[in-house]
Amino acid sequence: MTATWRALALIIVGGLSATALAKDKQPTAIVIGGGMAGLTSAVELQAKGWQVTLLEAKPSIGGRSGLAASEWVGSAKLQPTLYHYLDQYKLKAVPAPDYVRNPGYLVNGRYFSEADLQKEAPSTVEGLKRFDKSLDDLAASIDDPLKPLANHTLQTLDSISVARWLEKLNLPPTAKALVDQRIRSRYDEPSRLSLLYLAQQARVYRGLPDTEMRAARLPGGSQGLAQAMAKQVKTIKTNARVSAIVQEKDGVTVKVGDTRYSADFVVLAVPLPALGKISLAPSLSALQLRALKDINYGWRDQMLLQFKKPVWGKSRLSGEVYSDQGLGMLWVEPALKGGANLLINLSGDNARLMQAFGDRQVVDQVLIRFDKHFPGAREQFKGYELRRYGKDALAGGAYLAYGPGEISLYWRLWEQPLGRVVFAGEHTDALYPGTLEGALRSGQRAAAQVIDLKAGKTVGPVESVAEAKPVAAPEASTKGEKKGFFSRLLD
Ligand SMILES: Cc1cc2nc3c(=O)[nH]c(=O)nc-3n(C[C@H](O)[C@H](O)[C@H](O)COP(=O)(O)OP(=O)(O)OC[C@H]3O[C@@H](n4cnc5c(N)ncnc54)[C@H](O)[C@@H]3O)c2cc1C
Repeated sequence: MTATWRALALIIVGGLSATALAKDKQPTAIVIGGGMAGLTSAVELQAKGWQVTLLEAKPSIGGRSGLAASEWVGSAKLQPTLYHYLDQYKLKAVPAPDYVRNPGYLVNGRYFSEADLQKEAPSTVEGLKRFDKSLDDLAASIDDPLKPLANHTLQTLDSISVARWLEKLNLPPTAKALVDQRIRSRYDEPSRLSLLYLAQQARVYRGLPDTEMRAARLPGGSQGLAQAMAKQVKTIKTNARVSAIVQEKDGVTVKVGDTRYSADFVVLAVPLPALGKISLAPSLSALQLRALKDINYGWRDQMLLQFKKPVWGKSRLSGEVYSDQGLGMLWVEPALKGGANLLINLSGDNARLMQAFGDRQVVDQVLIRFDKHFPGAREQFKGYELRRYGKDALAGGAYLAYGPGEISLYWRLWEQPLGRVVFAGEHTDALYPGTLEGALRSGQRAAAQVIDLKAGKTVGPVESVAEAKPVAAPEASTKGEKKGFFSRLLD
């Protein structure tokens, strides 16, 4: 071999081994946000051989996962992804007793089980049943909950608020107060909520009895799962609040204070209000920027009140309890935290109203109302823990709760990557937003998308609003026909 050929061969071999090296190079990802979604992406990518760095702004991981040390979760049928991870980390959910599975009611300060209410206030129960039936009719009109905008009628539902629909149902006052409370506890204030969103969510859970919603207790709460996942992630930086993300041709740089982290891809698993505070280059699309300003988040603040002894007498304030006084859901916490504990959720506008108050003032306001229901409560009170998600800049609300018109504009917007940045978080899950299940599913989806992008595959777009095909006009416009269910609704 001549010297020239030898040199050429060396160059080729050198070139080949560099290519081989590049091929074998461990792919890298930065996950921003250490809630359930970010943790899921991190463990899934790591399991596929990726080098992952998780950046969390707070001193500890877990994000919005519950304050309750032992929270109620749904059944495995309802939350398959949650149970998949519980199994993986050998965490056991304990079956819940019946009185937790069925809702209770606090009416004029008196506690009623569903059966008691039926005996003593049948018109209220009739109202509750009428609401359930009407909502179920709406849910049944959605063939596929992944396509809630499939026809013109459903698109119209998106422009109607839940409050307007409830007015038309004309429920008796107590039933109306209890229904309002149920909706604001699960989602947000009825006046702020899209009717299509309520119907789509009812469609997702349709056919599963309500008793499946609180089928089991998770000892240690979802924090237990968060900790188990975090143990698997090799590199976690807490107190690392990301301020900027810059994408280049071959990778992404993420800024935390004066420190810069680089990787091939980023999973951005923070709630939308927190996302709005991160600078992105290139920028989000005009629609995404609009969505950041628009998309409604429900408000739900949680407080754990500790008493020296139970003050609720024989009432079984456990599970999901709705009061007609806007007090919110109450759970009697099993005495895991010592003494007698009560978890109170202040939701919707009741929580927003409290925004201007300090923590102690909020607790006092709740205690005053609680003392009316259960005299002596204030003397027995000994302490509290409070989580105010609406005031927390890293959350900006409890969870996504589409307002009127928002599904039409923003449906599945965040499942589309922005270059090398993929979005995760409960708000990006089309079926189970606002839940642990949704957060976990979104983390899995984001990890799979990152892997696809690395393999050079095109990701998305998922079916968008523009692709939804309008079908026949709703019954309301059909002249001479007997007025149907939808036309009554839209009158
Ligand atoms: C009051 C309340 C009750 C709930 N009850 C239930 C229930 O009973 N059942 C159920 O299934 N679900 C429930 N949920 C919903 C569930 O808790 C959430 O859906 C889930 O925890 C959201 O996880 P996530 O990872 O999407 O977001 P998060 O948990 O919010 O995680 C996002 C993380 O990103 C971090 N972050 C934000 N900005 C930055 C930044 N710039 N840099 C770095 N990190 C950043 C945040 O600190 C946070 O840790 C409840 C939620 C609330 C608020």
